[in-house]
Amino acid sequence: MKDGFGREIDYLRVSVTQRCNLNCVYCGKTDCEKKGSELSPGAIGKLVGAFAKCGIKKVRVTGGEPLVRNDVCEIVERIRGVDAIGTVALTTNGVYLEKYAADLKTAGLDSVNISLDSTDGSTYRHLTGADVLERVMAGIEKAQSVGLSPLKVNAVLMKGVNSDGAGELVDLARKKDIDVRFIELMPFSDSGIDKSLIVTGADILAQFPFLKPTGQFEGTAEYYAADGFRGRVGLINPITKKFCSACNRIRLLSDGRVKPCLGHDVTYGLTQYLNDEDRLEEEIRKIILKKPAGHSFDTQTPSYGLNRTGG
Ligand code: SAM
Repeated sequence: MKDGFGREIDYLRVSVTQRCNLNCVYCGKTDCEKKGSELSPGAIGKLVGAFAKCGIKKVRVTGGEPLVRNDVCEIVERIRGVDAIGTVALTTNGVYLEKYAADLKTAGLDSVNISLDSTDGSTYRHLTGADVLERVMAGIEKAQSVGLSPLKVNAVLMKGVNSDGAGELVDLARKKDIDVRFIELMPFSDSGIDKSLIVTGADILAQFPFLKPTGQFEGTAEYYAADGFRGRVGLINPITKKFCSACNRIRLLSDGRVKPCLGHDVTYGLTQYLNDEDRLEEEIRKIILKKPAGHSFDTQTPSYGLNRTGG
């Protein structure tokens, strides 16, 4: 269905937990170990079914870290079981991916995005608080070997923190059949981000002049290619090239509330209608119509980081 600004909303991001096994410096500073209430796989399946009736065709499972839930395969299975859903994807930090990749594939997962901000062990530890880079790399290999495709690596660069490792990340796209995407750092007030740390898409193109535009725009990413590269490099520029006018997303939070826009704190309750399918659909349609025009990161900073919202 279309929202109040005529945008077709067909992509639902489902945060299945706000817990995370990492503690990234730029993500929300709210307690990564705090569970809060979490929807059961059955409730997630039911809600996705109602969203599908309102036009959702693609679902991404995210968090927090979705793989800290030991019922994550059942969650994927329930979503896969909703007829109208064409694509089921997952975003993960990759630490438990080696363990779950094969079962996730069997459960019906199509593709996976892995967050990796550095390929240097000590920088990775500094950014995430954990010494698990090798496990993440093993998770990437495993996901490729079981056929979770396409495989994308998402990286957030910060000036003077991990920006000097951009070349090694670009190299992943040179050597492997992986799309490496750089996401501009977004300011959320509970992460205390200093805007001067932002590395823009233009900074990346200036650093790697051999990257040539492919003319491919997929979702939020603009893709570039280079001679001899197996994968592509993508730029996601929410700050310097705001793409809200083409936004097709809506978010279901781990406690069952719906958040129509990443850049606004407003959320709507839905779980009270779980046992009334018609009302559920009616409420979702009302919420989609209330989706804001877009973020205003330049003048207004949303309170909660992506660990709460679902990145
Ligand atoms: N735990 C999973 C993961 O690491 O991919 C899913 C949730 S995580 C919040 C999703 C994505 O949000 C990660 O790629 C992370 O880099 C990104 N992210 C978190 N805070 C951000 C910020 N302030 N600006 C830009 N991206 C951010």
